[in-house]
Amino acid sequence: MLENNNDDNNSEEKIEKTSINNNNNISTTTTTTNTNISIGSGKKRQSKLQQSFLSRLSGSRFRELNEDLYTTTSKSAYQKYSKQPELYEQYHEGFRCQVKEWPMNPVDIIADWLLHNKRSKKDNKNDTVIVADFGCGDATLAKKLTNTNDFLVHSFDLVASCDIVTACDMANVPLPNDSVDVAVFSLSLMGTNLADFIREAHRVLKPATGILKIAEVRSRFFSNNHNNNDDDEDEDTVLSNFLQVLSKLGFKCIQKDDESNKMFILLEFIPNKRRPDRKLEYTAKPCIYKRR
Ligand code: SAH
Repeated sequence: MLENNNDDNNSEEKIEKTSINNNNNISTTTTTTNTNISIGSGKKRQSKLQQSFLSRLSGSRFRELNEDLYTTTSKSAYQKYSKQPELYEQYHEGFRCQVKEWPMNPVDIIADWLLHNKRSKKDNKNDTVIVADFGCGDATLAKKLTNTNDFLVHSFDLVASCDIVTACDMANVPLPNDSVDVAVFSLSLMGTNLADFIREAHRVLKPATGILKIAEVRSRFFSNNHNNNDDDEDEDTVLSNFLQVLSKLGFKCIQKDDESNKMFILLEFIPNKRRPDRKLEYTAKPCIYKRR
């Protein structure tokens, strides 16, 4: 078999070696929490079979980490990612693959909205817009807005993937009260303590003029038995519950995109002059990525 030049057999042999040989392409340990996958730095060119094996492995690792982030508190996620910062790259390797499959990326829409909004507001043309990007990932938003002095973007995530990101739990960001013009959560309302994130955004936003932008996977806000023919569908949706929660947390929804985008929902809020309920807790349905 080792002598056989058939591509697939060779690939199988390489996969076995690769999976055993820690130094080259991939290494896994048996326990879930310590699983450590490193992919792509090997010198050998990977065969198609190897690539598909590695991508399936990284895909399942991504789904595992994703589910974990949605079903634990942000405090424990932050502790875990601080101890094992490599988890960030494992998660984002999968996340970046997902993004490539999407017809559009919500963070691009938010960046375009910020740029357009800035241009159209003649009265504060010379002011720098202060943005806080909660759960910024690879800081795509900040990178899209850096070519201009119009914006100062504070980017927060569990791990700092580059020097413009501050590592923290976004339930507790290092910004003063009333200092931010636009707070952004783009696909980042993870963790079981969503209310803490919203209260934190409320704390840092300027009370009179601040804007909160949320982009989420649409399916998170509709109940499983959502039925387009149901006359009461609006009342029945998790979305209306979410909007009520946001209202108790001090925000009024001023814009909901239409339903033409089947995948994502984009919401815009302003402070509603209500003091955020300090005790309220809220957890939304997780976004589970399916195996492709
Ligand atoms: N906003 C980015 C990344 C979305 S992926 C974009 O739209 O491209 C979700 C991100 O939220 C991940 O990078 C994850 O690490 C981050 N995240 C989840 N919980 C967090 C928390 N409690 N504090 C900071 N970041 C968090």
